Amino acid sequence: MPEISRKKIEKIIKETKLSDGRNLIDEGLIEDIVCKDGHVQISIFANQENFKILDPLRKQIENALIKSEGILSATCVLTNISKNEKVDEKSVKTKKVIKFEGVKKIIAVASGKGGVGKSTLAVNLASSLNDMGKKVGLLDADIYGPSIPHMFNLKGKPDITVDKKIVPFDFKGIKVMSIGFLIDEDQPVIWRGPMVHSAIKQMATDTFWGDLDILIVDMPPGTGDAQITVSQNLPLDGAIIISTPQPVALNDAKKAIGMFNKVNIRILGIVENMSYFLLPDGQREDIFGKDGAKDLAENININFLGSIPLDKEIRINSDQGDPTNLKKDYFDKIASKLIGLAEFL
Ligand code: ADP
Repeated sequence: MPEISRKKIEKIIKETKLSDGRNLIDEGLIEDIVCKDGHVQISIFANQENFKILDPLRKQIENALIKSEGILSATCVLTNISKNEKVDEKSVKTKKVIKFEGVKKIIAVASGKGGVGKSTLAVNLASSLNDMGKKVGLLDADIYGPSIPHMFNLKGKPDITVDKKIVPFDFKGIKVMSIGFLIDEDQPVIWRGPMVHSAIKQMATDTFWGDLDILIVDMPPGTGDAQITVSQNLPLDGAIIISTPQPVALNDAKKAIGMFNKVNIRILGIVENMSYFLLPDGQREDIFGKDGAKDLAENININFLGSIPLDKEIRINSDQGDPTNLKKDYFDKIASKLIGLAEFL
């Protein structure tokens, strides 16, 4: 199937008009158009005033696109951002634009590399903190692979308040919000640049968190645009880095630490995941190497917050969708350290 051109997409948007004959291209309201392998994603500048007019048009554009040859799926999102407010992705400077009323501390869980257990740590930390009587929220900002809905077995769209705030899911006391609730699960996410910025910012600003002691943010992996966007836009009080003991993961962890240093976000410490495997006879097997993250912490003079073993129950639990069922000392110890550190932030 031939790939549809950007020009053709723009033509379809232009032909799908408002009742007064105006179109979004000429009005300059199209923020970005991305098309990859037949999947089209479009972001449209919107605000409280024009939302009601743009929302039906957004659907009409989607319907018009999906009928066109060369398009497998089409998603249009309204982004709550002013036209003049664009991120400069090259500049790495701290700009805290979003206020979180009622949230005492915002802590990021980050990794340089995907698949090292970042979401697992974020989820289980939230659960341990909740057990310890803290009011805790979890914001899944991993736009490229949001796994929090799956880990909590949460489906569907969150409720919206009368003043258009998103109500996070309440899972046994943990407030949960994920970019995964706002996008279609089966759609490959091919957002980039400004779209990533808008999606993260919109989710962060428009969620009604209420009073929280700690909001844990599951960061996008890596040190690219999405991670920088979150670091620049959310008022993070500190970051926890997670890595396996392998040199390849540690190198990426160092890059993540460097990125946070650049944007002046304090590193609270490093957690080592998949540190060892306990054999049935009680012997430890260091599958991914020994003490790599612990040594890194010592070398660069940051806190070592603890080790998590390779544990089948972790994997089973994250697939079963109720992290509150998993009670593990190693997560509780990290959570206790975090509470202690957060007091001084
Ligand atoms: P990331 O967020 O870094 O991409 P995840 O937390 O999603 O990684 O973990 C990837 C997978 O590995 C998940 O299925 C999770 O259950 C599993 N996993 C993570 N840490 C452990 C561990 N210590 N023991 C067993 N399975 C783990």
